[in-house]
Amino acid sequence: MPIATVNPATGETLETFDPLDQDAVELALAKAADAFRTYRTTGFEERAELLRRAAVLLDAERDRIARTVTTEMGKPLAQAEAEAAKSAKALRWYADHGAALIADEYPPDADVADSGAELAYVRYRPLGVVLAVMPWNFPLWQVVRFLAPALMAGNVALLKHASNVPRTSLALADLFHRAGAAEGCFQSLLVGSDVVPQLIQDPRVAAVTLTGSEGAGRSVGAAAGEALKKSVLELGGSDPFLVMPSADLPAAVSTAVRARIQNNGQSCIAAKRFIVHQDVYPRFASAFAEAMRALRLGDPMEPTTELGPLATRQGRDDLAELVSDALAHGATAETGGTHAALPSTGWYYPPTVLTDVTPEMRVHREETFGPVAVLYRVRDLDEAIGLANATPYGLSSNVWTNEPTERDRCLRELEAGGVFFNGMTASHPALPFGGVKHSGYGRELAGHGIREFCNVTTVWQGKS
Ligand code: NAP
Repeated sequence: MPIATVNPATGETLETFDPLDQDAVELALAKAADAFRTYRTTGFEERAELLRRAAVLLDAERDRIARTVTTEMGKPLAQAEAEAAKSAKALRWYADHGAALIADEYPPDADVADSGAELAYVRYRPLGVVLAVMPWNFPLWQVVRFLAPALMAGNVALLKHASNVPRTSLALADLFHRAGAAEGCFQSLLVGSDVVPQLIQDPRVAAVTLTGSEGAGRSVGAAAGEALKKSVLELGGSDPFLVMPSADLPAAVSTAVRARIQNNGQSCIAAKRFIVHQDVYPRFASAFAEAMRALRLGDPMEPTTELGPLATRQGRDDLAELVSDALAHGATAETGGTHAALPSTGWYYPPTVLTDVTPEMRVHREETFGPVAVLYRVRDLDEAIGLANATPYGLSSNVWTNEPTERDRCLRELEAGGVFFNGMTASHPALPFGGVKHSGYGRELAGHGIREFCNVTTVWQGKS
């Protein structure tokens, strides 16, 4: 994939970048290894100050950076601004809480008395150079949610960002440079994904984190396994959105629309499969389809736009193929279903609601990365939970019910890294984020995220 800025709203190539050659990659690795030797000796306060200065710059330059994001991947400008603001908040959150999250831990004396130690405790030490392979869909947030805890823990970072967001990648590296990050602490490497295995194998790289597709996860996980290195994988999702009869239906409908079309429908935690109890299905289905139909699709720079283009032509074509396959096998498009009538410049796809979906259709099993919702009618909670779990993925889930017994069952039985009741899945710095099954392993954010890239060190000191 060429490294280039291509505006998804017009299809115009604005800038292309030569990938780094082997010498440049070698230099970056050497700089990172050098930087770690010094940076690991810094204290929490110094690291926190770096994150705070980066947050100040990100806030001050929000408009410019958000425009870069929208130009490269097409999300509505207001959502790009919100992403920048949320990223600054996460930088501050780790600056404020990071030290406490990985402070030395002392087990109760009574528990370790028979170990023979005068003093025994746990120290969270950094691992070293962490490689991050990141996606384009939240090009600021995905980077910050790995970078803030990594730096706070004393690691240094190499970023291989998605090939379609090079300007955003360079802007982030430049921002941290101006915030005072020492040379080599955080570098953006403009390289293709073919270089990733080599980076993982390199002895100077200690660990790798990937956010992206299932296929990329398999490659990175295999390379990390081969090299015996720690890895965290945040992969795809096909989150269910269950609606039971006791739900507040108007709230469920409006949240369902937001949960499906946020980020032009290209979010790993977007609700993708809507599983509705038969007693409320007719009302939910018609209100949902109507609200999806009414969405304003257009130029993502326009403040009134609710749905912009998909980020890449390939992404738009893949989505169109999934929908065509479903329609060819008997699904019904309650709205949308084809982009034939949309402007041919830019990679737009209309909001689409599919019903009559059956297991042999690809859309039943695969992730729909765009504004396409699949609607199912179910008899009862048993069938709802069965359908919710009938996916290779397990990122998050959403349940609308006011029945405590239904909540309890969903919490026990839904196979996902998150269960959100009467709301939509969202990430927050203080709450862990990640999935099970083919959605990956490991966690980001909160204390769990910062500890992923630490050497959890047992310190045992004998009696003198
Ligand atoms: P992708 O193709 O997997 O790309 C993500 C990153 O991985 C890019 O930097 C890409 O580089 C790199 N990459 C691709 N193939 C690779 C390989 N074989 N080896 C090493 N690196 C590789 O993902 P995408 O389609 O752009 O992004 C959408 C996917 O990410 C969806 O499945 C979505 O659900 C998932 N996602 C998950 C989360 C989460 O937190 N769980 C968050 C956001 C997105 P190039 O750009 O150079 O190909």
